[in-house]
Parts: sequence; structure tokens; C-alpha cells
Amino acid sequence: MGTPTMGTPTMGTSQRQESIAIVGGGLIGLCAALALQHSGRKVSVIESGSLLQSEKDPVGLNARSIALSYASVQIFKALDIWNEVKHLASPIRTIHISSKGHWGVSRLKASDYELEAMGYVIESQLLGNCLLEKINQSKSINLVTRATVESIEVEHNSQLSYRSPDGIKSLQTDLIVIADGAQSKARDSLGIKHETIDYEQSAIITNVIFDKPIAAAAYERFTESGPLAMLPLGQNRYACVWTCKPDDALELMALDDEAFMQSLQQCFGFRLGFIEQVGKRFSFPLQRTEAKSLTQNRCVLIGNAANALHPVAGQGFNLGLRDIASLQGLLEGRSITNQVANPGTLSQSLAAYEQLRQSEQTQVIRLGDGLVSLFSNDLPLLNHFRSAALGLLDIMPALKSEVALSGMGLATGGNAMMRGHLR
Ligand SMILES: Cc1cc2nc3c(=O)[nH]c(=O)nc-3n(C[C@H](O)[C@H](O)[C@H](O)COP(=O)(O)OP(=O)(O)OC[C@H]3O[C@@H](n4cnc5c(N)ncnc54)[C@H](O)[C@@H]3O)c2cc1C
Repeated sequence: MGTPTMGTPTMGTSQRQESIAIVGGGLIGLCAALALQHSGRKVSVIESGSLLQSEKDPVGLNARSIALSYASVQIFKALDIWNEVKHLASPIRTIHISSKGHWGVSRLKASDYELEAMGYVIESQLLGNCLLEKINQSKSINLVTRATVESIEVEHNSQLSYRSPDGIKSLQTDLIVIADGAQSKARDSLGIKHETIDYEQSAIITNVIFDKPIAAAAYERFTESGPLAMLPLGQNRYACVWTCKPDDALELMALDDEAFMQSLQQCFGFRLGFIEQVGKRFSFPLQRTEAKSLTQNRCVLIGNAANALHPVAGQGFNLGLRDIASLQGLLEGRSITNQVANPGTLSQSLAAYEQLRQSEQTQVIRLGDGLVSLFSNDLPLLNHFRSAALGLLDIMPALKSEVALSGMGLATGGNAMMRGHLR
């Protein structure tokens, strides 16, 4: 989809330096700061946590990871952090999709699309460290930590108040970007409604070590209780996301490591060899939260505050990065203050953002929900369909490429940032 047109670019006519405040310094808030500081803007990030750079876990058994899509790699190139991120990330050159107990198998290969990799996997804390380092080098970004935003005023001007160890402070700003996660209080305080869908499933996440080094392949295995993903972390280490029924998750969490490894091996099979070690396990209920609107006055919702997805396709962070790319594309080279002086143009920009994001988010959500219901349901009739779907996917290049493009974050086209440039 093309970028909707907006008011005439007016950057450079304004005397005052424009400012943007970001509520929440999670991975998405930090990436947004790096993107939105361009065009001479001052960006403040208000984060309630302390965000200290963390030490690398030496074995990496307890680290949490994120799979980066091809489009996210392009966005990191535009933000000039890809070189730092790349040497900490593991490439995914093949994605192997199968369904437990059924004959269909499909393989998506980077080489079929003339790509070096379909995506990459990186430990979240290493990615966070890269972002913090880049932010600390920037003169345009002010990161305020241990500060919780308590109120937002957007009727007459945009202003927020936050509580910090130094007391209550307030900040006047031209635009407020809300990135405070799925349970967003900022979103609620603006009266933006959201819908939460409970999938009645839980995810167990952990890292595992197999008995031999393995190629750069990711595995998505659909089981009767939900999808099981293995993402390569380099050498013989894999990040595992195991989605199952809540009661099964309780039982699996209660097992000792040895018994848990046996259950996991039995469910996943032996295509990566024997599981030798398992890290700390975390479990949580799976929900999807969707904001009913993405903008209000001078506020914009991004990341999990806008849409928190089921992790089946590993798309939440990737989708949030594309929120940022869309917003940056719509603001690039344009003055927010001039748009504020002429409210029609700012509201046009925000309406354009809403339109761009709603359509892509709906598409990604439908694909994720479709996969969850197709592959998490144990009705006998569906078993045949599942196998056929996977078999067909493997022999129908066009269908396969649609799934691959969606996974790579390219299904809806893109703007300059999604092609690796800021403008
Ligand atoms: C098991 C699992 C696996 C996943 N795997 C993948 C994957 O492979 N690929 C992928 O793309 N995505 C994946 N995701 C999704 C991804 O992790 C999230 O979409 C992404 O991290 C969301 O980031 P965020 O910054 O929007 O929200 P959050 O990470 O929730 O950050 C919100 C921040 O706001 C701060 N905050 C909250 N309230 C306030 C306040 N009032 N004032 C100031 N600060 C505040 C919080 O302290 C926090 O730091 C996965 C998710 C799960 C659960």
C-alpha cells in the first residue's frame, strides 16, 4: 500500500526546536526515539524502569530472544544500528513448518528469495544494550528512567506529568507517542478502548541445548495443543516457545528439568538431535490486546500499546517497528508545530497513520489467528486439512511466497525505512 499524501512539507520554517515525548522505554519506545530524533527534533523517553545495560548471561540458557523479520533488519539499517545488532544475532536461513503426527512438511528457504537470511534471532537484552548505547550517543534524546507517567493532557496543548525520584515533573511537547506496553495506562487514561482476547492457551518459554551444532534453521511445529517454535541462537542453542493448554502448561512447569526435556523431546521429535540441557522456564497466559483507535489529538499509539499479538508468528516486535517506520515516514521533513498551528494537517497525518497501521495489523492478526485455530484444534477433519495445507504450501511457490513475505514483514509493501533508508 502506498503512503497517503499529507500537507505540504514545512520543516525549516519553524524557529523553535520541536519535541516528541515517548511514554515507555521498552524495545519499541527506544527504537522510536532513535527514529523520531531525525528532522532536528528533541525526543524525551519517560520509562518507569531503571534500564541499566545488562551483563551477558555467559551460557545464554536463561536469555529471552526475539526473531527479527527481514523488514526489521531494513529498519535497523535505516537507524544505523544493524552493524552492531548483526554480529550479536543468528541468521534464519530456512524455516521448517510441520504438524505433529501428520505427513505435511513445508520449508521456506532464504535462497529461494535470493536473500542471505529470512530473518535473525537476537537475545532481547543484547538488543536492548545496543539501543541504549546508541541512545546514550545521541544529543537529541533525553532518556528519563525510574519515572512513571501519571497523567496526559492533550486537549489544548500536549503535556504529561511523571513521578520520578525527584518528585512530580511535567513536560510540554508537540506530540506524545504511547509505547507503554499491552497494559497501557496512558491509552486507558485517554479513554481509548481496547479489546482483549484470551486464547485459552499458555506459552512456556525457555532455551535448550541440543547434542550437536546445527544449521541456521527455525522450526515451527504445530501440535494438538498449540504451536511449538525453535529459533536458532547459534551453535547448538535454541530458543523454545511452546504454546499449550493452560492445564498442560501447569503440569509441564511442575516437572523437573529431566522430565521436562523428555516431554519436549517427545513433542518436538529428533530433527535437531537430543536435548541435553534446558534453561529456566517461564509461563504466561496468551492474550491478544487490540486498541480500538491508534491516535487521539496529539497522541499516537505504537507497539504493544497498539496491538499485543499471539507469539505464534513471532511478529509483535516486528509489527511495532513497522508502526515506527510508518510514523517516521509521515512526519519526515514536516513540521509538527506548523501542523499543530493548522490542526487539519496534523489530524491528516494521524489519520494517515491510523489507516496505514490498521490495515497491516488486521492482516497480521488474521494470519496469526488463522494459524492458531487451524493448527491448535484437534478435530479429525482438520487433521487431513492441516497435512494437506502444509503439503500444498511446499509445492505451491506463490502461496509459499505469500506466507514467507508476511513472515518477513513485506506483505504490505513499505516505505523508505522498510527499505533501509530514512528518507
Ligand atoms: C513469548 C514471546 C515471544 C515473542 N517473540 C517475538 C519474536 O520472536 N519476534 C517479535 O517480533 N516479537 C516477539 N514477541 C513480542 C515482543 O516481545 C513485543 O511485541 C515487544 O517487546 C513489545 O515491546 P513494547 O516496547 O511495545 O512493550 P513493552 O516491552 O511492554 O514495554 C513497555 C515499557 O513501558 C514502560 N512503562 C509502562 N507504563 C509506564 C508508565 N506509566 N510510565 C513510564 N513507563 C511505563 C515499561 O516499564 C516497559 O519498559 C514475543 C512475545 C512473547 C510474549
